[in-house]
Order: sequence, then C-alpha cells, then structure tokens
Amino acid sequence: MRIVTTVAEMQRVCAEFRAAGQVVGFVPTMGALHEGHLSLVRRAKAECGVVVASIFVNPLQFGPKEDLAKYPRTFEQDVERLTAEGVEALFAPEVAEMYPAGAETTVTVAGIGDRLDGASRPGHFTGVATVVTKLFHAVGRCRAFFGMKDAAQVAVLRRMVADLNFEVEIVGCPIVRDADGLALSSRNAYLSAEERQRALVLHRALGEMQGRIAGGEVSSAALMDAGMGVLKAQDGVVVDFLAVVDSGTLLPVEQVGPGTLVAVAAFVGKTRLIDNFVV
Ligand code: AMP
Repeated sequence: MRIVTTVAEMQRVCAEFRAAGQVVGFVPTMGALHEGHLSLVRRAKAECGVVVASIFVNPLQFGPKEDLAKYPRTFEQDVERLTAEGVEALFAPEVAEMYPAGAETTVTVAGIGDRLDGASRPGHFTGVATVVTKLFHAVGRCRAFFGMKDAAQVAVLRRMVADLNFEVEIVGCPIVRDADGLALSSRNAYLSAEERQRALVLHRALGEMQGRIAGGEVSSAALMDAGMGVLKAQDGVVVDFLAVVDSGTLLPVEQVGPGTLVAVAAFVGKTRLIDNFVV
C-alpha cells in the first residue's frame, strides 16, 4: 500500500488510477481502525476497481472542550489492517498539510449542519464539511463510503455534494456492532468495563422503539416517550438527544415512515456515544 502525505501527490495518484480506467473507492477515517471501518473498505473493494483510504484526525471538527488530544491513534496497526484488506493507497497528511498557515476558508452546510449532532456540537459539521471537501479535492472523482453510524454526517455530506456539484457519489453503509449490540466506535476505547455495560442502553432504547414501530406505532411522541423511558432508567448515562427525524433533512417528523431516522446521543461518563436506525 502506497502511503501519501501531500495533497498534490494524492491528486496525482488518484488521477493515474482513473486514467487507467478504474473507478476509485474512497474511505475517509480518523484512524484507530475497527471492524466498522473495515466493513467500509470491504464494500469499497467489492464495488470499485481501486480503493484509497485516508487517516486524518481533523482538529476542525472537535470543540474546544472535546477529546482531540486524547483521540486514539494507532497508525502502524491501521496501516497493517488496510494493507491486509488490499487498499491501494492511504492518504495520511499532517495537520499543516491540510491547514497551512493562512488558511481561512471553511464550508458550512447551513440548516442541516446545525441539526442533531450539529446542535449539540456547534461548528462540528463545518469542520467535517471543510475537511471532507479538502479530502474530495485530494482524491477527485470517486465513490465515497461512509458509515450510517454517523447518519447525520451522511445527510450533511449528501447535501453538500449535491449543492456544490462534487463528482462524488456518497455510499451509506450499515452500522457494525459488537455481539452485544454496542455500535463499534473508536471512542469505545475510552469506556471502562462498567461504562461499557451502561453504554448498551443506547442499543436497548433504540430496540424498544424499533419493536414498537414493528408493532404498528407511528407516533413520534409515543416512540420518544418509550425510548426516553429506557434511557432514563439507566444510571450514569446522560442523554444528549433522542430524535425522530427525516433522514434526508434531519427535520423532526410527527409520524414515522420509511426513511425516518431515529437517532440517540448520550454521555456515558465523559464519553459521548451515538447510535441510530433508519426505518
Ligand atoms: P471515524 O474514524 O470515526 O471518523 O469514522 C470513519 C468512517 O467509519 C465514518 O464513515 C463512520 O461512519 C464509519 N464508522 C465508524 N464506526 C462504524 C460502525 N460501527 N459501523 C459502520 N461504519 C462505522
């Protein structure tokens, strides 16, 4: 696997792949790779002629009080994993390459970027949209694979790609979970054994809501009550939000139907975890 550290070289490498007639699959990550990330790589491998990945812990998407400094970094192991999956090239720039001194431009997806996680984490989606814009400009025309674990991110990026005419197709991929249901996340590494047990309440609350939907419940208010009931019953978990929204616009819906996103974010100790399902 070729490791590339500059935007200019990444542009050259990906242009060569396309010139050779290949469709480029792109998997952007912040590293600390787990099976969730690797599921995106495998999907990209199955559907595209070549696969490139990126590892960049993007300072712009972390709030001033968030976990940028302690975010897990396992670069050598990540390189081994991506190599074993047959990834052709890894883009792993330094912060100064992505944000050279003097950089002033950011990308804000207004409206949708301030919903769900964007409401809880002001500026987060501007950080995401800005770095993903830069990554897309480094890779060029591609199919880009993102996890539905970050469903709001997928909605924001789909909006951005449509609004700004990127030559990129966003592919949303299913959430990968541990055997007990906990959605895999690099941030799970922060959890103590006891916190990890408590964290299962996110999956339980969503499961309760999913069960009621399967039983015919369509009222968002009734579903929210049911989900909140499960979340509130768990000690040591502070709910950030529970939301029943349209998965495209992230605006609340009164009744659930196909395409409705049910999303939860909660703090387990100091760790903020998210999970969701789409009806
Ligand atoms: P991150 O490194 O956390 O920025 O995630 C990189 C990509 O992996 C994003 O598109 C995430 O949505 C995706 N991802 C993270 N966790 C999972 C998971 N458990 N299942 C599927 N995709 C995931």
